[in-house]
Amino acid sequence: MKRLIFSLITLTVLLAIMTLTAYASPQSGYQLAEQPIIKVGIWSNQSNVLVSADTRFAITNEKTKEILGTFPGKEKVSITVNNEQIFLNGKPVLATSLKVEPSLTDGNHYVEVNRKQYRGTITLHRTTGKMGLTVVNTLPLEQYLYGIVPDEMPSEWPAEAVKAQAVAARTFALYNLHKHAADGYDVCATVDCQVYGGKSSETEQATKAVDSTYGQVILYNEKPIQAFFHSSSGGFTENSENVWGTAFPYLRAVADYDQKSPASKWEKNLLPADLSAALKREGYNIGEVRAIELSVLQSPPVSDPDRGISGRVKSIRMIGDKGSATLTGTKFRTLFGLKSTLFDIKVIIPLDKSVDVRITDSYGDREMKSIEINLPPRQETGLLNEKQNIRRITGRPGEMIVVTGSGWGHGLGLSQWGAKGMAEKGPAGDPTYFKEILKHYYQSTVIKKVY
Ligand SMILES: [Zn+2]
Repeated sequence: MKRLIFSLITLTVLLAIMTLTAYASPQSGYQLAEQPIIKVGIWSNQSNVLVSADTRFAITNEKTKEILGTFPGKEKVSITVNNEQIFLNGKPVLATSLKVEPSLTDGNHYVEVNRKQYRGTITLHRTTGKMGLTVVNTLPLEQYLYGIVPDEMPSEWPAEAVKAQAVAARTFALYNLHKHAADGYDVCATVDCQVYGGKSSETEQATKAVDSTYGQVILYNEKPIQAFFHSSSGGFTENSENVWGTAFPYLRAVADYDQKSPASKWEKNLLPADLSAALKREGYNIGEVRAIELSVLQSPPVSDPDRGISGRVKSIRMIGDKGSATLTGTKFRTLFGLKSTLFDIKVIIPLDKSVDVRITDSYGDREMKSIEINLPPRQETGLLNEKQNIRRITGRPGEMIVVTGSGWGHGLGLSQWGAKGMAEKGPAGDPTYFKEILKHYYQSTVIKKVY
């Protein structure tokens, strides 16, 4: 009995120590004291900007805080710049930076710039090294996301997909917070950072997705990740080093669920002369292109040295009559406006697209009708084709380079169509499923509320 009591006491003490240790351990990891404020560069180098607000508003000298004018709601005020001098409604002002803010700051009011609405405040300063004005919208990060998510993903998509997008967008913003520091703001409002449309873009569903994931961020090694996302990968995402050279341990190739994407299959035809001309314009002096060297696209995982695991083209060689040049897949994609670098190439001579046939209708009348046909195009064979990855351009009339590809975007991280596909098949009514989506596309990460 004594022995049992002793054991119980020992166990209780042990448990108490374990509990205390758990609570007493110092708070480690990434945590912010409060929600960050973000500065979004919405326009640059503007010569004339029209500002207003839905309520009474003030325009101040941002540096000295001096009030330069107060205006009734809806009144439009013109701000212009000429030779370093800023003008307010045509009158010169002694200020290098102006701030526009509604006099009521309860969060329900907005400033209008060139007829678009923005939460928070607007500041205007001269664009570095240029003649015009830079317009910056300063607001809390969560309100910024309200104006991001609807422009990045359709709001009517499944809630868990929109929530995944919201968390990816929040993480992306935190990672890139100082990207445009030299221009006087944190992030820009275009695809270079994230497309931001302000209050004018907001939707009820996207705002709900932002609110229900408040402060949640994707972390790897207790740091916000580079949360790249794209429209659809074409079946398989890619390792980051195979697209942009940098290996991020969480941007790994995974199977995608983007089969319903309208870009899951695409085709682009190029004329050999246009290919040669485009390469010449870019400074590749290889003359007329005679052949293209690229391995034949196989199903993933792909191990050809000129392709990534998903099959994305890492390098493609152009062989001309005066020399040859090797381009990266990304360069080739940009040059010809392709949706992705996941493609294959064929050189063909198309046959006639229709034939005339004599048909007899139900009344016995006869007529000629042109009927569309879909015959497989004749493929070129030649001596150079002994090597399967060489596609020879012979220069015969009508010859065409057919690029057939899959997916839209760089293929790194979250695939938006894949997130939609996962959410549609995911457990109904599970409000945490967005985490599964994110952990699939960003490997070995954790989702954590950081403020
Ligand atoms: Zn940017």
